[in-house]
Amino acid sequence: MASVDLTVMGAGAWGLAVAVACARRGAHVRVIDPHGPAAGASGGIVGALAPHVPEQWNEKKAFQLEALLMAEDYWADIARLSGADPGYARTGRLQPLADAAAVARAEERARGADDLWQGRAEWRVIAAPGGDWTPASPSGRLVHDTLTARLHPRHATLALARALEVLGGEITREGLPEGPVIWATGVAGLDEMSALAGKAAGTGVKGQAALLRPRGFDASDAPQIFADGLHAVPHADGTVGIGSTSERDYDDGAATDAQLDALVARARGLCPALAEAEVVERWAGVRPRTRSRAPMLGPHPFRENAFIANGGFKIGFGLAPLVGEVLADLVLEGTDRIPEGFRPEASL
Ligand SMILES: Cc1cc2nc3c(=O)[nH]c(=O)nc-3n(C[C@H](O)[C@H](O)[C@H](O)COP(=O)(O)OP(=O)(O)OC[C@H]3O[C@@H](n4cnc5c(N)ncnc54)[C@H](O)[C@@H]3O)c2cc1C
Repeated sequence: MASVDLTVMGAGAWGLAVAVACARRGAHVRVIDPHGPAAGASGGIVGALAPHVPEQWNEKKAFQLEALLMAEDYWADIARLSGADPGYARTGRLQPLADAAAVARAEERARGADDLWQGRAEWRVIAAPGGDWTPASPSGRLVHDTLTARLHPRHATLALARALEVLGGEITREGLPEGPVIWATGVAGLDEMSALAGKAAGTGVKGQAALLRPRGFDASDAPQIFADGLHAVPHADGTVGIGSTSERDYDDGAATDAQLDALVARARGLCPALAEAEVVERWAGVRPRTRSRAPMLGPHPFRENAFIANGGFKIGFGLAPLVGEVLADLVLEGTDRIPEGFRPEASL
């Protein structure tokens, strides 16, 4: 093995996004993961890249907006480099509104989006258009936003891995770390951080998801639907990712069970096109959630010449492009632009 400039532990979306950002700047990067790329939470099938509501602005929402706005160019470039399709498209999102109060709140948020989204995307209240891809909405109105995008998490992670190799990086299941080490080991990394700190720095939150194929309806360019906590995310290949459960207590992070059956049943009631959809895959993974719920980025508090990139929780793919850049700034240039609330100490 050739000598490298830095090492990334973990070949999920965050480790690979950091590795790609560093490799682009000329660093020779080694990624070590005993399970290979996309083995953890990043091997999933949902892929909603959705904004927080445009109100009560804070550094987390601002960071996420910047990440979502850079995503289109970012994933196009990963596709070009890797020759693989991450499945990205900015197809927008529909959300039903329960009653007049919800409509009024959504209209207020539309004004917030006009201010906060810099004219780059819209949040509008529209009349429900009807048809096979319209969710039931008691008010007859829907929120339609044009910022939300989709990608296929597993394909996107494998595309990142390929892009890294094209940039001269190496991915190995075992090997020795050299140079600065970036720990991007997902829920295992949070467990380890908790052990080092002697208190809980974060935990895993299991999620179960399914991939459906609508019968006789092509949803591939349709906006995703977010209704009653349920995401329905149409992918380029015509399948629709459905997610997810949120489980703090679990024995097997990779097992699916009756909770997923219930989710699929709810998804079939979401809109006519999904009523008879076939289940083509069932999947479960464990999201890394820090104690503060914010990402955990920065110098590793317990290790020399080491950094951490963890805590993607439910929006890891939405944040990944900017996480990569911010860590590359810090590790390679010594430029620190990490939001205060994202520092490891915020969860310790
Ligand atoms: C059901 C579900 C639905 C989701 N839906 C969405 C969504 O719609 N949109 C969105 O943006 N996000 C979503 N997420 C969240 C997203 O998947 C995660 O935030 C993201 O994948 C985290 O990436 P990661 O690289 O930090 O962790 P992981 O992908 O878990 O990667 C960590 C890697 O570290 C490796 N590792 C562990 N220990 C070591 C070690 N000691 N040395 C080396 N390597 C090690 C593991 O093998 C693993 O490959 C969802 C997650 C789940 C579970």
